[in-house]
Amino acid sequence: MMLPTHALGGMTLALSVAFVAPEFTGVALVAGFLGGVFPDADLYAGHRKSLHYPVYYTAFALLALVVAGLSPSIATVAATCFLAGAAVHSVTDIFGGGLELRPWEATSDRAVYDHYRDQWIEPRRWVRYDGSPADLLVSLTLAVPLLVALGDPLRQVVLGTLTVAVVYTAVRRLLPTLAATIVDDVLAPHLPDHLLAYVPTRYREVEG
Ligand SMILES: [Zn+2]
Repeated sequence: MMLPTHALGGMTLALSVAFVAPEFTGVALVAGFLGGVFPDADLYAGHRKSLHYPVYYTAFALLALVVAGLSPSIATVAATCFLAGAAVHSVTDIFGGGLELRPWEATSDRAVYDHYRDQWIEPRRWVRYDGSPADLLVSLTLAVPLLVALGDPLRQVVLGTLTVAVVYTAVRRLLPTLAATIVDDVLAPHLPDHLLAYVPTRYREVEG
């Protein structure tokens, strides 16, 4: 799923804090947002493996939840919501598309790496690819409770995230061609081979 969906997923999950400890709602939502986006910081280095931990984030989130329940504080609530956001991100990527450059072609059998079992998990493709209309629908659905419950400035964060989701969905199917053109036609003729080696092969039409 696309990054805005994960960000909103982390925030919607964190919104549950408002019902049990409303004084921590703000910090919970910020931590949920950050945890929701964090795993995709591995986009350029071992995507969906380096920072995606479907099993371990889930285990640590549950542990953090117990600690936060026994000793609620800004630190324990933030840690729980961050880990929960990252866990839900890593697990829900399984239900989207694979790692291929054009995920709508459904050619990859890799969704997320399971470090616990040391193997790739296959994409289920319930949401066919990141930035698909179904993905946008998930984003919009997750945003509803947030827009109802929150005031500014968090409401503005939700609206900004939704704007990114709409724009990303609109241009998603153009991005692979654009990326490949930039890499193959603009960068490749000028970059030395050892630097070009850092460009993930999925961004190249020409095998490098
Ligand atoms: Zn991801």
